[in-house]
Amino acid sequence: MEKIDLPWVQPALERLPATISAMPHALLLSGLAGLGKRTTALFLAKALLCEAERAGRGACGKCSSCHLYDAGNHPDLRTIEVGQEDAQSAESAEEESATRVKKPSRQIPVDAIRALADFVAITAHRGRAKVIVIMPAEAMHPSAANALLKMLEEPPGSATYFVLVSHRPDRVLPTIRSRCFQVPFGVPATDAALDWLKGQGIEHPRLALAQGGYAPLAAMERVADVEFWNQRKALLDELARPGFDPLAAADRAEPIDGPVVARLLSQWAYDLVSLKSGGTVRYHPDYTAALEPLAQNLSAQVLMVWYDSVLQYGRAAQHPLNKRLAMESLLSGYPGT
Ligand SMILES: [Zn+2]
Repeated sequence: MEKIDLPWVQPALERLPATISAMPHALLLSGLAGLGKRTTALFLAKALLCEAERAGRGACGKCSSCHLYDAGNHPDLRTIEVGQEDAQSAESAEEESATRVKKPSRQIPVDAIRALADFVAITAHRGRAKVIVIMPAEAMHPSAANALLKMLEEPPGSATYFVLVSHRPDRVLPTIRSRCFQVPFGVPATDAALDWLKGQGIEHPRLALAQGGYAPLAAMERVADVEFWNQRKALLDELARPGFDPLAAADRAEPIDGPVVARLLSQWAYDLVSLKSGGTVRYHPDYTAALEPLAQNLSAQVLMVWYDSVLQYGRAAQHPLNKRLAMESLLSGYPGT
């Protein structure tokens, strides 16, 4: 029987019935991006379609249904997916609202959900089950969400399963949420996540995890993003430089997406505040040597004022007008030396 090779997913899986035949007909897998919800949704979809007699939650991996699934053309599966939101997951709600910016929305249109109506109405091709996977559920246009709600309210005759994935369950229609069996995914313990990343051959697991918002798969994705690391280094080197020059820093920030700049700066400010208050560096462990003296020389009050202006910038970064001006003004207030 197949298993999911992500150890921290187990507690979420354990919430589900031990055998696939007892699975609720609507599931909502929720949690930060980069925790394996997508992997789990597809794992369950395959298992729900699998035609082998078995105990447990996984698919057999050998039957003709499993082969069809693997070939990507199972007639009883519909997957609706739009590009993942920024996989970077923020620490606190406050930081998130400030630094995480909606990208041009990639919505699931109402037509995509209406097109499921026929699929829901007919009998499963292979007579077993039909599975609909929607990722992420919060990407549904409001009318798409309402169309889905109707389907959930009128359970079709033959076995149809809905597997929804959400990085932001608070943005999913409450009436949809309440009709789904909730499967929350938690962030793994840091040490366990670090061990797992080491096992994947990640060279600087602590840094990768910090920059992946403490979600291991987001960390893996982050590591592969060479452009991000180059941009980050260019900007942070400026912030760390003695004789800080706000215009030079603004030049470095210019080619970087506003929300990414906002996040890097807020993490920089967070680390400074944390060091100042006797804590440790959380987000930029590779810059600890630069952050420590900076924190030492600055007053907590000055730091907090700048942190606040970074958070404000994060909110403004949603509106790209005057990006350069806003950046210059923000960096002029940076209390570094
Ligand atoms: Zn199978």
